[in-house]
Amino acid sequence: MPALRGHVKVLLTMNTLGIYVQVPFCQTKCTYCNFHTGVVSSARFAPYVNCVCGEMAGHRRLYEGAGITLPEAIADAVVDTIYMGGGTPSLLDASHLRRIVDAVRENFVAELTEVTLEADPETVTEEKAAAWVVAGINRVSFGVQSFCDEELKAAGRMHRRADVYRAAALLRGAGIANISFDLIAGLPKQSRTTWRESLDSLVELAPEHVSVYLLEVDEGSHLGAELLRGGNRYSAGDVPDDDAMAEFYETACAVLGAAGYEHYEISNWARPGFASRHNLKYWRREAYLGFGAGAHSFSGTERWANAHDAAGYVGALTAGPLPVEQVEKLTAESALEEELFLGLRHLDGIDIARIEREYGVSLDARFARLSSAGLIERDGSLVRLAPGRVSVSNEVFVELMK
Ligand code: SF4
Repeated sequence: MPALRGHVKVLLTMNTLGIYVQVPFCQTKCTYCNFHTGVVSSARFAPYVNCVCGEMAGHRRLYEGAGITLPEAIADAVVDTIYMGGGTPSLLDASHLRRIVDAVRENFVAELTEVTLEADPETVTEEKAAAWVVAGINRVSFGVQSFCDEELKAAGRMHRRADVYRAAALLRGAGIANISFDLIAGLPKQSRTTWRESLDSLVELAPEHVSVYLLEVDEGSHLGAELLRGGNRYSAGDVPDDDAMAEFYETACAVLGAAGYEHYEISNWARPGFASRHNLKYWRREAYLGFGAGAHSFSGTERWANAHDAAGYVGALTAGPLPVEQVEKLTAESALEEELFLGLRHLDGIDIARIEREYGVSLDARFARLSSAGLIERDGSLVRLAPGRVSVSNEVFVELMK
């Protein structure tokens, strides 16, 4: 690859910042989950929240101590989005969540437009929903995963179909006007019929935003380990094959499109005006700071991640330094790869002329191969995944990185 230039330019125009807060606690472990989350006593919630708020208050000093340079453009940026993810952050007391939102307001310049809480349906109560609104939360992202009780049970989920209906009504009653549902294509016991039923039920409940993920299995999860090594405890024998999953994805595209959802990112659909502002920052390579165990951050020039282990995170921060697990200073080459890889996930596509100008490269040869294979379409300097070829996006990314 030729020498590249200009990959930090994006920082100079950056004036908003996202805050991500990781809450790594769950009630049980779902069979397909490979996240670093733990099932712990609720007595550990308050000390953890204290540390997260302390990390925000001392972030400049802590970054300096960890050898991380915070560019001026970020130090002065206005925080417009918060995303509390996990784990199951809705397990925390509403007062904890309020403390986190308040800590953002106290330690940053904040003009919050989107404050998201990830929630599991069975954790929602009328009191909690009302308190979330008072805390400033205006978007709830539900891990629905399926509307079929047999699939939910096989996946080790705590909620059932009825909980989703109950929780959605409570949130609407509390005044939450922006709800997102996650579904997983490829759960054990899922069939063409049950998948279609889940999509139809979702459309009936009319969330503003939808994410559809394909089941990913690796040996870090109970289900993944069983798929690789055999066994019959986690229904590995009932996982749909790759062709079925690809069909499920295409069905989701058709059903959600017909219901008026705009497909704006490979895994995400939204009613007009409801694309996730926070998550758009990830695909646009805009800055975000992550707080909590395992939280990732991106300053435009560096990426770093806090230590995953929640107890280790609390112990280290209480003693003093930020427990950073990895810090990566981006090279021009890796920044360019991110521009292409992340940018193409967004279905509006990428502006090749801008990227060529900023990085001092020519991308014609790379895109000519993909264009003649029908995997992308070009409209002047705009390049996007070809309609109907989104499900083979991995092929595109592999080709692009050659
Ligand atoms: S709720 Fe989410 S993070 Fe927690 S175990 Fe299940 S999949 Fe993993």
